[in-house]
Amino acid sequence: MQRKIHVAYGGDILKTTRFLLEQSGAIDCFPEGASVALKPNLVVGRPADGGATTHIQIVQALIEFLFDHNRRDVTIIEGSWVGDDTRRAFAACGFDDISRRYGVPLFDLKRDSYTAVDTPIGKIKVCDRARGADCLVNLPVLKGHCQTVMTCALKNMKGCIPDNEKRRFHSLGLTEPIAALNTALRPVLHVVDGICGDLNFEEGGNPVLQERVFLGVDPVMIDAFGCSLMGVDPRDVGYIELAQQYGAGSMAFTPQDIVLHNQPQTHRGAMRQSGQVARLAKCVKACDACSACYGSLIHALARLDEEGLLGYAPKIAIGQGMRGVPFDGVGVGRCCDQAKIKIPGCPPSAAAILQTLRDQLK
Ligand code: SF4
Repeated sequence: MQRKIHVAYGGDILKTTRFLLEQSGAIDCFPEGASVALKPNLVVGRPADGGATTHIQIVQALIEFLFDHNRRDVTIIEGSWVGDDTRRAFAACGFDDISRRYGVPLFDLKRDSYTAVDTPIGKIKVCDRARGADCLVNLPVLKGHCQTVMTCALKNMKGCIPDNEKRRFHSLGLTEPIAALNTALRPVLHVVDGICGDLNFEEGGNPVLQERVFLGVDPVMIDAFGCSLMGVDPRDVGYIELAQQYGAGSMAFTPQDIVLHNQPQTHRGAMRQSGQVARLAKCVKACDACSACYGSLIHALARLDEEGLLGYAPKIAIGQGMRGVPFDGVGVGRCCDQAKIKIPGCPPSAAAILQTLRDQLK
C-alpha cells in the first residue's frame, strides 16, 4: 500500500469501515497465509460511545474483510492500562460476543510472555503475541490525552507491553519510550476509530461525535493527521517528532496524500453532548451540521478555550441548513457560503477552523 491516508465517513460504523478497507486496497498489507493480530484500544472497560475504546464494529469489519479475502488466522490482542482488567474490558466492549461469533480468540497481553527488545533508548519489554504475529493491525481511537495532549496510533502500542513496563514508561515521562516502542513494533496497517473520541481524556467521558474512520501504513503520519483533526500542533505531542527521528515514519503529508472516499452526510444529534462539549458550543449557531464538521469545530473551540480566548470568540455558524443564508460572522464549511468570514472545506479540519478564529481575534 502507498503511503497515503484513506478517510471515510458514516454513521453505520460496520459498513463505513468495510467500505474503507475495500476502497483503499488494504488487503495488500496481508500476504496469503499470514497470521494477523488485531490490537484495539481497550484502555478501560467502558463502551466505545464514551469516547475511550475502539468500536467493536470496526473490529468486526476487519474480521469479515480478512475472512472474505481468505485470511483466516486472526486473533485479537490487548492489555488494558495498569489497574484495569483486560478480560473485563473485552466483555464490556462486546469482544467476547465477537470472539464467539467468528471463532477469533482473545488474548490478554497482561498474561503473555515478553521479550526485551533493542530500541534507540535501550531494551523495552514487548509482549510475544504482539511481536509474533506476521501482521499486527493497530486499531486506535483518536482522542485527547491529559498528559500527551492527544493519543492515536503511536501511543496505542503501549497496550503491547507488560504492566511493569507500562509503569516504567510513566516514570520515564512517556515521550521517549512511546517513540522508541514504535521502532520495535511495526503494524502493517493502522485503522483509526475517529467515531467519537474523547475531547481530552483517554478514559473517555466527553465524546465528540465525528463519524470518521481513517487508515494508513505510517503511524507518524497518522498521528500528525490526527492532530490536524483536533486542532493540535503535532510538535506539542513530543513523541510524534521523536518517533520520526527514530525512523518510525514521517510527519509530512500534503492534501494530495489524503484520499477521501466519501463525504460526510449524517447529521449531528444522534448522541448526547457532555456538559463540557455543550459549554464550548454556546457561541455556535448550528443547523443540520454533519458530525465531522461539528466535531472539528468543537475541537477547535477546545483549543481556543485552553488559550483563554473562548470568551472572545466571534459568532459562528455551521451546517447544511445555512446554505444560502446570509450570516454576519464566521461560517464553518462550504455550506456557509453566505457567511461574512468563510472557512472552506467539507468538512474543514479543526486546525483550519482554529487558524481562522485566531486570525479574527488578532
Ligand atoms: S460543510 Fe456542510 S456538508 Fe460539509 S461537512 Fe460541513 S455541514 Fe456537512
